[in-house]
Amino acid sequence: MTTAQEEFGLFIDGRSVGARSGRTFESQNPYTGDAWARLADGGPEDVDDAVASARAAFDGEWGAMTGFARSAILRRCGDAIAANAERLARLEVNDSGKLLREMLGQLHALPQWYHYFAGLADKIEGRTVPPVNPNYFGYTVREPVGVVGAITPWNSPLLLLTFKLAPALAAGCTLVAKPSEHSPASTVAFAEILHEAGLPAGVLNVVTGWDRATGEALSGHTGVDKVAFTGSTATGARVAQAAGANVNRVTLELGGKSPQIVFPDADLDAAANGLVAGVFAATGQTCMAGSRLLVHADVHDALVEKVAQRARAIVLGDPTEAATEMGPVANRPQYEKVMGFLRGAADEGATFACGGGPDPERGGLFVQPTVVTGVTPEHTVVRDEVFGPVLAAYTFTDEDEALKLANDTPYGLAGAVWTKDVHRAHRVAAKLRAGTVWINAYRVIAPNMPFGGFGASGIGRENGVDAINEYTENKSVFVELTGGTRDPFQLG
Ligand code: NAD
Repeated sequence: MTTAQEEFGLFIDGRSVGARSGRTFESQNPYTGDAWARLADGGPEDVDDAVASARAAFDGEWGAMTGFARSAILRRCGDAIAANAERLARLEVNDSGKLLREMLGQLHALPQWYHYFAGLADKIEGRTVPPVNPNYFGYTVREPVGVVGAITPWNSPLLLLTFKLAPALAAGCTLVAKPSEHSPASTVAFAEILHEAGLPAGVLNVVTGWDRATGEALSGHTGVDKVAFTGSTATGARVAQAAGANVNRVTLELGGKSPQIVFPDADLDAAANGLVAGVFAATGQTCMAGSRLLVHADVHDALVEKVAQRARAIVLGDPTEAATEMGPVANRPQYEKVMGFLRGAADEGATFACGGGPDPERGGLFVQPTVVTGVTPEHTVVRDEVFGPVLAAYTFTDEDEALKLANDTPYGLAGAVWTKDVHRAHRVAAKLRAGTVWINAYRVIAPNMPFGGFGASGIGRENGVDAINEYTENKSVFVELTGGTRDPFQLG
């Protein structure tokens, strides 16, 4: 039976509109293989319209609103997301093949972000600054940056948009969002829901598009004041260049190759569970995937066997079924990329403790959960981000070597240390060059904890109180107090 395709327009100025070109594109469900949705194929001219709408909202009603009023709207947005969580989660599953239970979990958590940033919207304050020269009184004001271009990847579209949207709205900015061509639908529906909840027209616009020219148009747009990007490191560098040409601000949340360091005194069952969570949850398609296992030589065999045993038992299947633990890879190009890594690992002499190829039972875009062993720090599968269910395991013999190996990467998004020794846990956490470190845990995030990377994993931080600073300018105001005149040729 074929079901009718769902249709999604662009969302500009509070209305659903077609692309100016009249073109559309289809979104495939990676589990069923069906083209389940048809979307407007927005191009640079639609980006122009969306940016103009965002600018008008910024210069108009939204820009004039108090933090208290924005706070009230943000709270309503959070409530509306909670009320529509199931529908939005299903749209994400259709687009990306991720587990319904994972996406439902994300959608149920998202209101926390809007409620948390609602709590900050009415507390954006400057300072009064003690004068150096008593003739002047000084104060600072935090003002919204302006129009934000938000570009997101396909793996968790609404979570990663929220990391940008919630603080940007709290700060008083307006946005144009450009979701990935591989998972565009949920962002359009989301903008409609937030508009119905009270977000004024033009504050959040969405332009979907199949071609990368759409993202390029947004990142290099002269009407945009800041670009907030999540995606691959290679694309992030291009986005930063385009924004840099306009001397625009950027935050970049990019790739990772995060280490999980397991010391011999660790609870190996807990560590094995954390390794499964780190690299097999979400089919390994998370920026923070714990894709390198650095394990003490004494416990290598025991731990690898525990992880491999659990990996072999992972239930692959229909992402919408409650018993399923791993869905397919989200799209064909990503599947081919993962296969290329597995073939490359075998060619470079690696061995597989489990997995190593396509899932023979299900075919399609299903990949076996894989643990690669017999690798050194030079192997490609150890160095490069796979963005799939592939763990590379290798050994160390002491703490210094563990840290040296862990930090031997251009990335620095996240990492974990597994040990019962509290002294060692904090020593290692302090020396890991990564934006987030978990001690005896993995894959935990929160609206009030900063998230972002060192090195090639990005610039700036999302989440947490300081995220407001990423969306505000800091203005200094000097007030002359005496009413007198001064020497115009001297610096005041
Ligand atoms: P991608 O870089 O291919 O695409 C990301 C977004 O950029 C998409 O919307 C895409 O259409 C757009 N885009 C592509 N080329 C562009 C250009 N030249 N100018 C402007 N926009 C352009 O990434 P992806 O394949 O969608 O996602 C996977 C990557 O994202 C992985 O590397 C992963 O690690 C990273 N990621 C990072 C985080 C994080 O928070 N650090 C979170 C999730 C994913």
